[in-house]
Amino acid sequence: MKFKGSRAEAVEELNQFIENNLLEYSKLRNFDFGPQKRDNTSCLSPYVTHGLIDEVEIINKSLKRFSFVKNEKFIQEVLWRVYWKGWLELRPNVWTDYLRELRDIKENFKNNKDYLDAIEGKTNIECFNEWVNELQKFNYLHNHTRMWFASIWIFTLNLPWQLGAEFFMKHLFDGDAASNTLGWRWVAGVQTQGKNYLATEWNIRKFTNNRFQNIKINEEAAPKIAEKIYSITEKSFTNPHLLEDKVLLVFDNNLSMEFTNFKGHNFKKILIISNTNETRQVQLSENVLNFKTLLINDQSNRLKEKSITAEVIKIDELKNIKEPIYALYPTVGENLDYLRLNQLKNIEFIYREIDQFSWQFCNKGFFNFKSHIPKIVTKFN
Ligand SMILES: Cc1cc2nc3c(=O)[nH]c(=O)nc-3n(C[C@H](O)[C@H](O)[C@H](O)COP(=O)(O)OP(=O)(O)OC[C@H]3O[C@@H](n4cnc5c(N)ncnc54)[C@H](O)[C@@H]3O)c2cc1C
Repeated sequence: MKFKGSRAEAVEELNQFIENNLLEYSKLRNFDFGPQKRDNTSCLSPYVTHGLIDEVEIINKSLKRFSFVKNEKFIQEVLWRVYWKGWLELRPNVWTDYLRELRDIKENFKNNKDYLDAIEGKTNIECFNEWVNELQKFNYLHNHTRMWFASIWIFTLNLPWQLGAEFFMKHLFDGDAASNTLGWRWVAGVQTQGKNYLATEWNIRKFTNNRFQNIKINEEAAPKIAEKIYSITEKSFTNPHLLEDKVLLVFDNNLSMEFTNFKGHNFKKILIISNTNETRQVQLSENVLNFKTLLINDQSNRLKEKSITAEVIKIDELKNIKEPIYALYPTVGENLDYLRLNQLKNIEFIYREIDQFSWQFCNKGFFNFKSHIPKIVTKFN
């Protein structure tokens, strides 16, 4: 498997998946047949995370091919991502607390043998070691495997979930503050209080098509205890009345600016922001940084082809800009942290319509969010 570095190729992958594999998605999606056979899920997450293609585009294309009923499972998964993002927007302290805890834990575990064995793929659990290598080689893991991996990390290797989330973030091409942090919290049992996800031998055996056998893991651990309950922060995601001739910032979560709700607006210039390890709290691997650079350059080239003035700059250059500017909202995560920590007050956020509409349903659990999915789909179809 190899992820591509352009929107044109990402769209082609989407079209191929809808044409050839979507029909069987709900039946086959839980199987991990290995990195050489990945067509039972879409593998679109690295592109969606970077906004190369967005959720509305995916859902609407899939609905052109199949009815909502035939597509329902896939649409739900696509919108899980929107749900996790909205959930975190309403409780941003989950992210800041995670980073703070990570700093302390990292210091305590820097020489811990179990931790070092885990990230080097040298445990006595064969499947886990293979997944460690796969993650570093392909920068992707199947969803079910992410769940097994996290469960083994937390409940068999007895390592803190925060370190596992950092390891994923470092290597995943789709690494995302919301889906990753909340995915790990969910497996640990602190996201849905008192309910953890426990991998079992039979489940791994069945859904890897018997690729792994005799897996000795802890199948009976209790959930981790949440130290804090997070209440909802009141936040507004209203767009300002957009003035013409102002600069727009585009971060690495929105790299198809010319297809967003703001495509028709006349901005003075588009600045595409790159964020390197010097300005990140969680360090990314070389592969991930290179992948981001490819996607950023692709966005820059596409804008230039449309004769839109665009320039790629490093995030720390923003400190030199004093005039009032707009930014496509970067969502809770490293880019937003940079703006906040450096108190860049001249930036006004503008929000995607799908987020503005959907995030109001993220105050409770996914079960509740799911009941609003037909409404969300109808609004944007
Ligand atoms: C511990 C853990 C960590 C994770 N970290 C990330 C992460 O950093 N970034 C990330 O994008 N996803 C993350 N996920 C969710 C999920 O594993 C990936 O989105 C999925 O594997 C992507 O593969 P796909 O594109 O083939 O998905 P498909 O099954 O084809 O689904 C289509 C799209 O729906 C979205 N989606 C599907 N499942 C989920 C899910 N469970 N949560 C959120 N969105 C979903 C993705 O955008 C995906 O591209 C994590 C899950 C777990 C359990």
